[in-house]
Amino acid sequence: MGKPEEENVAKLFENFIQASTCKGALQAFNVLCRRLDLDPADHDTFYCSLKAKVSGWKANALWSKLDKRMSHKEYKKGQACVNTKCLIIGGGPCGLRTAIELALMGAKVVVLEKRDSFSRNNVLHLWPFTIHDLRGLGAKKFHGKFCAGAIDHISIQQLQLILLKVALIVAVEFHINVEFVKLLEPPEDQTNEGVGWRAAIRPADHPVANFDFDVVIGADGRKNSLEGFKRKVLRGKLAIAITANFINNNTTAEARVEEISGVAFIFNQRFFLDLKEKTGIDLENIVYYKDNTHYFVMTAKKQSLLEKGVLINDYVETEMLLSSQNVNHEALLSYATEAADFGTHYQLPALNFAENHCGQPDVAMFDFTNMYASENAALVRERHGHQLLVSLVGDSLLEPFWPMGTGCARGFLSGFDTAWMVKSWAEGRSVLEVLAERESIYRLLPQTTPENIAKNFDLYTIDPSSRYINLNSTCVRPNQVHHLYITGELN
Ligand code: FAD
Repeated sequence: MGKPEEENVAKLFENFIQASTCKGALQAFNVLCRRLDLDPADHDTFYCSLKAKVSGWKANALWSKLDKRMSHKEYKKGQACVNTKCLIIGGGPCGLRTAIELALMGAKVVVLEKRDSFSRNNVLHLWPFTIHDLRGLGAKKFHGKFCAGAIDHISIQQLQLILLKVALIVAVEFHINVEFVKLLEPPEDQTNEGVGWRAAIRPADHPVANFDFDVVIGADGRKNSLEGFKRKVLRGKLAIAITANFINNNTTAEARVEEISGVAFIFNQRFFLDLKEKTGIDLENIVYYKDNTHYFVMTAKKQSLLEKGVLINDYVETEMLLSSQNVNHEALLSYATEAADFGTHYQLPALNFAENHCGQPDVAMFDFTNMYASENAALVRERHGHQLLVSLVGDSLLEPFWPMGTGCARGFLSGFDTAWMVKSWAEGRSVLEVLAERESIYRLLPQTTPENIAKNFDLYTIDPSSRYINLNSTCVRPNQVHHLYITGELN
């Protein structure tokens, strides 16, 4: 390439790196690929071809990060899953993070995302290992402010954007506006030999409807749409969380206001008693992060929501209690604003609500009374000679309690564990052994905390023994997982 050509490519690459929306990133990536005459469908050679054609200090810095990651022996130089085809349902942080790991092992990976934008302002707490992991994927190259200084959080939309860009670079196929509806069994009819497991999707005529896959991963969040997984519900005491996002104008005055990285009643009773006395607001905890927005999440006591007129009538059934007809939206906005104002010692110059994806003030109320967890992490279906490994990651597997910020960290761990399972599967280990090992590892997940996982993040790989301290990967025996090897018809 001559100099002007090189400059042109560098500019297109920079446009991709800097793209600030999901659609913008996809478009900039397509333009770059067309300009370089590269086809991401050639997933096994794409990264190397891209790297060969794009240079410059920023690109080179990114390649060196990604090369380092790719050198993990578990990926077997991108050959560990070279004949594996994976469908991932959901382009949230955990679907994307899992997609990257599978692509690094050489799998063909397709992600379906039903929305066409990343629009969640809410902010995720990041455990130290997730920060380390994301830095290793070059997060700072895409988002210069990524976890600068003592910052340990990121907005959901920004995290999705970073992960989408990395996923595209490692040749993950990402489709927006495509909704997974259900699995379709391979046909019995021998004339259709070669047609394997497929997905019914919306729109039905999208080319992904013809994609045959042998691994499907449910990463569609709270509401998992893959059948066959029973849910355990952990009933706790009533817990009503409120999230609120206010516009951050990034002024010096705003920069001075201290974050609240998680204050619970038991640790600072005075704060909560003062809040109640001055405002009538009664909280169990509150978190404030300064990110793209001023983000607050708090757990509010029912009685104070009733007294402040946020909840209109008292019902025993949480669903009725929090139904939109029973919530006075104006009172909810005032409640969140007052709590935010008090929590920041009235130091934020203005508390104007940021907008959510519907153009409304970004305040919402969520019920965490019943937390769910999937009973199992994976299963295998077999129909007409075709096996399908079915797995859950992220919120689909284990619901996080937002004020404790477990969602992203446990979600990433579940993605790595799933990648490890897909590797074992691709190596041809027996179905029951693969499933038993996955269940053994899953037992540790709900107990993980930043303190009880391995501390040397540099050594983290998809191998669970690099991350979990007290790992017993054979505590579930193959003879205990027969029920997860399903040969019957789908409903
Ligand atoms: P998600 O982030 O929920 O992603 C699932 C993705 O799947 C979404 O993009 C969705 O559009 C897509 N999808 C769903 N169904 C289909 C389908 N059938 N076909 C194709 N795509 C589909 N955590 C916090 O710690 N603090 C918060 O304040 C907070 N706020 C949240 C607000 C909302 C509205 C939601 C949904 C989640 C919030 N979370 C919050 C949870 C947090 O986002 C997750 O823990 C984290 O993002 C990891 O989740 P995930 O990738 O497993 O799922």
